[in-house]
Amino acid sequence: MTVHKGAFAAHKHELYPPTPTALLPAVPLGLRAVLDLVVSGEATSRAEIARRTGLARSTVGQHVGHLLGHGLLEEIESGESVRGRPPRVLTLSPRAGTVAVADVDTSGAQVAIADLTGRMLARETVPVRIEAGPEAVLDAVAERVLALLERTGRDPRRVREVVLGLPGPVDVGRGCAVRPTGMPGWDGYPAAETLGVRFRAPARVDNDANLMALGEASRREADTPLLCLKIGAGMGAGLVTASGDIYRGADGAEGDVGHIPAADGGDSLCTCGNVGCVRAVASHRAVLRALGIPETTDDDLRHGERELAERIADSDPPAVRALREAATAIGEVAATLVLVYNPRTLVLGGPLSDLSDDLLSGVRAVVYRRALPLTTRALIITTTLPDGTAALHGGIVLALRDVFSAQGVARLLVDDGEAD
Ligand SMILES: [Zn+2]
Repeated sequence: MTVHKGAFAAHKHELYPPTPTALLPAVPLGLRAVLDLVVSGEATSRAEIARRTGLARSTVGQHVGHLLGHGLLEEIESGESVRGRPPRVLTLSPRAGTVAVADVDTSGAQVAIADLTGRMLARETVPVRIEAGPEAVLDAVAERVLALLERTGRDPRRVREVVLGLPGPVDVGRGCAVRPTGMPGWDGYPAAETLGVRFRAPARVDNDANLMALGEASRREADTPLLCLKIGAGMGAGLVTASGDIYRGADGAEGDVGHIPAADGGDSLCTCGNVGCVRAVASHRAVLRALGIPETTDDDLRHGERELAERIADSDPPAVRALREAATAIGEVAATLVLVYNPRTLVLGGPLSDLSDDLLSGVRAVVYRRALPLTTRALIITTTLPDGTAALHGGIVLALRDVFSAQGVARLLVDDGEAD
């Protein structure tokens, strides 16, 4: 799977604002193919585009002229001339725009901006608790995105899409969280619409584990289906199918695996009101609680994460034991998911997975013992890439699929409506 899935990627889910389709021009397939080849770097000259698309040189010239006129592409002289005119190279113009992504977690959000080739231009952490409610969190996120745009010299009027990841069930169509636990004020709050209005751009909301799965699948060129388990305050799973799409359930609650009963769940009370859910015994939050480590302090929203990491690094016996027990419980759930979905890659993410190899080896041991040999024969079990940006990368991939969809390209051409 590649980051840029191509102009012909399916566009299945609603965005905010709803596209006034009647107002968008029909975009010729050829034009989208030309744009796609240049953006993906597969072709950088008119001759190469003609060869790759089978379009007449004059047609290619027309499409390229159109895209140059709208400021989406630029054509520069490469300077490497043998004799006569130096060859000219087509690239995506920096003026073409930017996409913005926010990955909101319980005790902080990460925001990033990327150009339309998917290259991350800047990112930053915003210290805001999700409990502060949607207005406060979205305000803080939007302000930080604007600051990143300013710092990198990108035009805030050319934000092409905003993607927001939330740690709970999400209704992608309505662009909001649905009945999330531990997120007061978020249920049904029009998060996509709020960001869409703020940036005057399409916006979408997705589950953070879904974004993490998509990010891992695209950055590693990993084998799919890829299942990603995010272990944080709760526990969520995202699945990228063999065709590179996010698997979606009927109500947006797919992957809310934290409420699967743990084998030794006992009577630990879960945020959902049941007892013995796996997130109540094996999430990062549950491990901190068992060890008596406060999750946050007034001046450090990541206090718990840091202290647990220190204790594990010092081989503190109670901490190591708690982590191993969590690994066993997580492994049980993972083994079940492996039996259901038969993924080729299983990725563990979130603060627990960064701590030590104990979690990974514990989960591996249980999965190999419990799942059937056919499902584990070629299964790769690993942790997320260590920089903690998988969900941001997933958000960028998702945004670019929209931007280069038929509607997205039509929108690019309308928004930059210099007649040509
Ligand atoms: Zn529960």
